[in-house]
Amino acid sequence: MDFEEKTGILLTAIRFSADRHRPQRRKDTLKSPYINHPIEVAELLWRVGGVRDQAVLIAAVLHDTIEDTATTPDEIRSLFGQEVLDIVLECTDDKSLPYLDRKRLQIETAPHKSPKARLVKLADKICNIHDLNQSPPRWWPKIQKQEYLLWSEKVVAGLRGINRELESLYDQELAEGKKILQIN
Ligand code: NDP
Ligand code: ZN
Repeated sequence: MDFEEKTGILLTAIRFSADRHRPQRRKDTLKSPYINHPIEVAELLWRVGGVRDQAVLIAAVLHDTIEDTATTPDEIRSLFGQEVLDIVLECTDDKSLPYLDRKRLQIETAPHKSPKARLVKLADKICNIHDLNQSPPRWWPKIQKQEYLLWSEKVVAGLRGINRELESLYDQELAEGKKILQIN
């Protein structure tokens, strides 16, 4: 795939994701547009992680579409191909399961994910912890933020060994979060 083709598909993915996430907002006080988040995940992979794998970048842009919108696997496959779909599915929680089971499964399955899915999941956790530190969900009490931070640390433990720069950025965000939330 040449530069023009790659750029075109990336733009299509951004537009597709923006359209699907259109009615959604993040949980922060400003109710930021949801699309900011997948764009941040992809940009972090590119800028900090040095990731140049097209399927990983596209999957980052799309990583919450199946989990959080009416988007189907068939749509992702037909527009962006099987490899992108496989990565997105690996980053998708089964929302039919109870909350605590989903959280436990993320910890248990992280080490068994493909390297490409681990990259997307790691960048996703960095962005979410950054958000937790700078613009947290507006109704969360401190205990919920503390639990979320410590849970993310357990998931990320299973994602390590793939990208030193991203892992180090996660560690910085984690340390910052522990300071803010007074976790020793
Ligand atoms: P979640 O733990 O699912 O919320 C965290 C997720 O919200 C993040 O992983 C991130 O996911 C997304 N997010 C959006 N905005 C932000 C932000 N500003 N900062 C950080 N993360 C953000 O809990 P919810 O509050 O969404 O709860 C969902 C359901 O689970 C509710 O029905 C609730 O009642 C229930 N619940 C049950 C609990 C229990 O049983 N102990 C505890 C807490 C909630 P992404 O990358 O996908 O956007
Ligand atoms: Zn996400």
